[in-house]
Amino acid sequence: MDVFYGIDCKNTTKKEVALAKPDFWKNSKNYYDLKSYWRNLFGCNVHKLAIDAGFTCPNRDGHVAIGGCIYCDGRGSKLRQKGELPSVADQIASGKKYYKPQASKFIAYFQTFTNTYAQVEKLQAIYDEAMAQEDVIGLSIGTRPDCLGPDVIELLGGYAKKYHIWVELGLQSIHDKTLQFINRGHNYQQFLNAVNALAGSGLNICVHIIIGLPEERDEDVLTTARTLAALPINGIKIHSLLALEGTALGEMYKKGTISMITKEKYVSLVADVLEILPPEMVIQRLTADGYHDIFLAPDWAMNKLDVLNSINKELSRRDSYQGKHYIRIKN
Ligand code: SF4
Repeated sequence: MDVFYGIDCKNTTKKEVALAKPDFWKNSKNYYDLKSYWRNLFGCNVHKLAIDAGFTCPNRDGHVAIGGCIYCDGRGSKLRQKGELPSVADQIASGKKYYKPQASKFIAYFQTFTNTYAQVEKLQAIYDEAMAQEDVIGLSIGTRPDCLGPDVIELLGGYAKKYHIWVELGLQSIHDKTLQFINRGHNYQQFLNAVNALAGSGLNICVHIIIGLPEERDEDVLTTARTLAALPINGIKIHSLLALEGTALGEMYKKGTISMITKEKYVSLVADVLEILPPEMVIQRLTADGYHDIFLAPDWAMNKLDVLNSINKELSRRDSYQGKHYIRIKN
């Protein structure tokens, strides 16, 4: 039996075996990206269609806290900013039209705010509407660890019997001191409870983390990575902290009370993190997205392609790849 480093190292009869770059990725990258994963799983190109279903967030509306995470601009999607939201079906239809040349199957990605923050009947109606659209093969539900009651997990687990379902948990760091500083409104234990409740229900779990959080040392980031590597997590999104106009973090940046991570440090830390993660963990994102109109810093983060190329180059320079320092312990 394989046992993963960090879960059970007590058995002295096990010996550590370092991993080689796996063939199953079937890609030329130094990590297992989402597109490759889906091509391997479904034999075709799959695209995630972002949907704003009109949810809010308990960390903004006073249910958990007011004001939200210090980096959150609270505006919702571009679609919401334009006015009344189109139906889920209409959003999927427009997205499919746009992305159809590049993909033949789609995942409905409920992205904006907390997409499990409603009565389960309402959630079911929204998710059903998405699953009823042609070529939609699954869901990806962005949410918070404190917003996943047993009824919601049961609902999602039901979809997972027939469809490809991801639950995306915002975490950002495993360190409670950091979570408090960024006003996440939940702690690490609540995240762990959510992972334990989701595990074994047929759902894929993706976790979001941020690199460059105020007062986090390199070792704090690596501890977050090592901890996640030992949990039943299937995917990860990593991005750099962004300072945006109109956010508490943006104000701190303008007052000079925080500094932003440099590109060199970010690239190097992402490479370190990827080396620690298991090779099976799907890397769903390595850069931050959007926000051009309210973007303050760091400048380099706006050039996503350059950041991605730099990460891949850094791993090549090290003759390394995702999972190189993830240790399987074999009997
Ligand atoms: S949990 Fe997400 S939506 Fe809610 S305040 Fe934080 S970043 Fe914003």
